[in-house]
Amino acid sequence: MLKTHSCGELNKKHIGSKVTLAGWVDRRRDHGGLIFIDLRDREGITQIAFNPEIARQCHQVANGMRSEYVVRVRGRVAARPPGTENTRLATGEIEVVADSAEILNSSKTPPFYINEDIEVEESLRLRYRYLDIRRTRMRENLILRYKVVKFIRDFLDDRGFIEVETPILIKSTPEGSRDFLVPSRLHAGKFYALPQSPQQMKQLLMVAGLEKYFQIAKCFRDEDTRADRQPEFTQLDLEMSFVEEEDILSMFEQLFVSMVETVRPQMRVIRPFPRIRYTEAMEHYGTDKPDLRFGLKIADLTDIAAETEFAIFRSVIDNGGKVKGITAPGCADYSRSQLDELNKLVRSLGAGGVVTIALGAPGGSLGDLTLDKVKSVAAKFLTLDQIKQIASRLGAAPGDLLLIIAGDGDMVGAALGELRQEMGRRLKLADPNLLAFACVIDFPLLHRDKKLNRWEAEHHPFTAPRDEDMPLLGSAPEKARGRHYDIVCNGYEIGGGSLRIYRSDLQRKVFRLLGYNDDEINQLFGHMLEAFDYGAPPHGGIALGIDRLVMLLAGEKTIREVIAFPKTQEALDLTFNAPSPVTEEQLSQLHLLLREEEE
Ligand code: ASP
Repeated sequence: MLKTHSCGELNKKHIGSKVTLAGWVDRRRDHGGLIFIDLRDREGITQIAFNPEIARQCHQVANGMRSEYVVRVRGRVAARPPGTENTRLATGEIEVVADSAEILNSSKTPPFYINEDIEVEESLRLRYRYLDIRRTRMRENLILRYKVVKFIRDFLDDRGFIEVETPILIKSTPEGSRDFLVPSRLHAGKFYALPQSPQQMKQLLMVAGLEKYFQIAKCFRDEDTRADRQPEFTQLDLEMSFVEEEDILSMFEQLFVSMVETVRPQMRVIRPFPRIRYTEAMEHYGTDKPDLRFGLKIADLTDIAAETEFAIFRSVIDNGGKVKGITAPGCADYSRSQLDELNKLVRSLGAGGVVTIALGAPGGSLGDLTLDKVKSVAAKFLTLDQIKQIASRLGAAPGDLLLIIAGDGDMVGAALGELRQEMGRRLKLADPNLLAFACVIDFPLLHRDKKLNRWEAEHHPFTAPRDEDMPLLGSAPEKARGRHYDIVCNGYEIGGGSLRIYRSDLQRKVFRLLGYNDDEINQLFGHMLEAFDYGAPPHGGIALGIDRLVMLLAGEKTIREVIAFPKTQEALDLTFNAPSPVTEEQLSQLHLLLREEEE
């Protein structure tokens, strides 16, 4: 190699050795005579000293070095003069006194500092991603990502799984999202689709008798741009035969616990991972992916509210709505403008507003509360006893602020769920070094798409209904539960899967329920039904979002920070400038004609 050591490994033990280093100029300091270069490579930084009295020629070369130049230096490792050691640097006790140096390549002045961890506009970072990755933060994130994936591979290998690659060009079938299509040159007018996930292929591998499969798989979904989604993403895709829900969930619990111990020992995991029913999650947290690092549970207050004289509560309840709330601990002194902000938030979520009840100054117990201490527009319509009942249901104490929303049950839950998150953030209740995993179970099998007036699979159409809910498929499909589970962490869904249908008669029945006629079923999914007729074993699996998991482990706020070359929120690749137009010739080979976009 062009170097004998990395820039991160030399220390006192190497003093006296002759070494050759190569890397980038992180910083150059000219001390009138002496020149110091901080030489950087992937492993670290080493100080190089150029002394004209020791090597004149070499000092001249150093004179021409600038930030981000690629250079190679030979010299002898020496102790830094006493008092000049740098304790923050692994190599901070030594320096290399250069006797020869060459510039391997120059560099333009980078559009942002590589050697400082300062905020840089994201579009600039993405355009010059190769420079962005030279920075410590991105480099560490990519290394962490590699360690996570390696850990997963080793863990599953130890348990008898084999990794199988599945194709990227497949058939377009309705699997939940919009497909990316690839026009076929050889078959005019026909298209492949990029996989939304290897779902059908991994199930066919179970029919094929592989029993334990996994893959670090690229998935593609052509969704409208949403914050923190990528059109292509990576998942750990896994499938097993002869298993039940708990076999998969408990293996993943073990996987996460050991993974965090290995790659992120400074973070804590709460064990065991709670198993939370979907209905419970919605009731207590207003979401199926609760952040369990803090409490602030939602409580139903409808029965108490129904007894009050407060017209807003009464009319909502008369119309079949709900009144629910949460407690914001210690927030009774919230100012007008702070309350306005909360109101604005819940209005943006479809609520009419939030009714706030401030429970006076902290100290004492609820029993001591008097009406004159309570601050709320609703106070004159509620009795002191009703306020105490509400406060006690919400587990509140004097000094706390009660946040109550009335309206349609689903909206109230969702708005309080967001409000709970917001209060968690404001009050810094979520420990950034804690990973609160949980398994959400017992999801409904289907939900009604009110616009299209039809049933949609909650997970995907291959999810098995629970045995005891089978009769409901005919009478009350909305009540049937699926054998679907999610793994959530800190407010994010990081994985989801299910036990699958493995008999063609039941699979056909579910497709019919989803509104497909027999012709459509045969045309779209005939290959699956046919396979199930050749001895398909009971099977189930899961997929884990690698991008999101690494984001949480890295303490980052977006998945773009843990992807080497991500797309922007508008699905653009700024490094390559994609998507881009293609030539007339390419279009004609693909039998395509572009049409004018209708206004
Ligand atoms: N195919 C599903 C997904 O990608 C996961 C699964 O059911 O295993 O979300």
